[in-house]
Amino acid sequence: MSKIGFIGLGIMGSPMAGHLVRAGHEVTGFTLNAEALDKLEAEGGRRAGDIAAAVADAEIVITMLPNHPQVEEVVLGAEGVFAHAPKGALLIDFSTIRPESSLAVAEAGAQAGFRVLDAPVSGGQAGAEQGVLSIMVGGTESDFAAAAPIFEAVGKTWIHVGEHGAGQIVKAANQLVVGGTYALVAEAILLMEALGVDAGKGLDVLAGGLAGSRILELKRASMVAREFAPGFRIDLHHKDMGIVADAARQADIALPTGALVGSLIAAGRAQGYGSLDHSALLKVVENLNGR
Ligand code: NAD
Repeated sequence: MSKIGFIGLGIMGSPMAGHLVRAGHEVTGFTLNAEALDKLEAEGGRRAGDIAAAVADAEIVITMLPNHPQVEEVVLGAEGVFAHAPKGALLIDFSTIRPESSLAVAEAGAQAGFRVLDAPVSGGQAGAEQGVLSIMVGGTESDFAAAAPIFEAVGKTWIHVGEHGAGQIVKAANQLVVGGTYALVAEAILLMEALGVDAGKGLDVLAGGLAGSRILELKRASMVAREFAPGFRIDLHHKDMGIVADAARQADIALPTGALVGSLIAAGRAQGYGSLDHSALLKVVENLNGR
């Protein structure tokens, strides 16, 4: 069992920290939303007043933050993880950020005497709450092996996909598929409703056939009912489609469907849905059709 400093207790980080406490780890948390620290304490973890206190005696430091500016500030900043954690600690960054930031953090870590893994996740809020996340890991084989007890507490599938940054590239591919699936499910709902067919029943059938997916399994009822509380915010998916677009440009490849999906997500943000769940792509498709 490990001493863990956990920074970023949001929609994903909060339930993940709870699983680590229940698995027997000593978890000290720091985050900007105080109620998440109350919850961590109630579950048997400890609260810290700043990053330094969260990581002071950590063997493992976990970050689950919105985007690369937060990760770079929390990890590399003057009052950050590398300035205050014991040398040799393993940093597992579960955040979704651009691959070059993961590389920069890993290189800075190596110079400062820390081991680093990029380990973005898929599975959404439900996956975090149930402890069944899919984890795509970039870094060295030995650090991947050392992190197994952590992955076991929060995930169901974890795979070492390559060197530093490779986890983020796989996550970008994941977000391409997830965004595209939501866009098509939204169009399917609208098509059925426009022709007077019960979309709930229709999606029940789709979920059992070749069109079935985890998205249909978890989200079809809330989409048909127009319930869009996050979940995974459109703002965050917009960030992720930017990572996809940058990666495609760097690789000199065209992703035409991805570009279209990225535009629909951008439209959702422009229409004021940034803090809704990404299933609110349905509202974007409805607006396009004047419905
Ligand atoms: P969130 O906004 O709910 O949580 C982020 C947390 O980081 C908040 O608790 C905030 O207080 C904390 N934070 C921000 N800046 C901080 C700082 N400087 N110091 C300390 N704490 C700070 O976001 P989330 O939905 O939990 O997503 C976190 C990451 O996981 C993102 O990169 C997201 O893309 C990714 N992700 C989210 C989901 C999902 O379904 N929500 C699924 C897979 C991956």
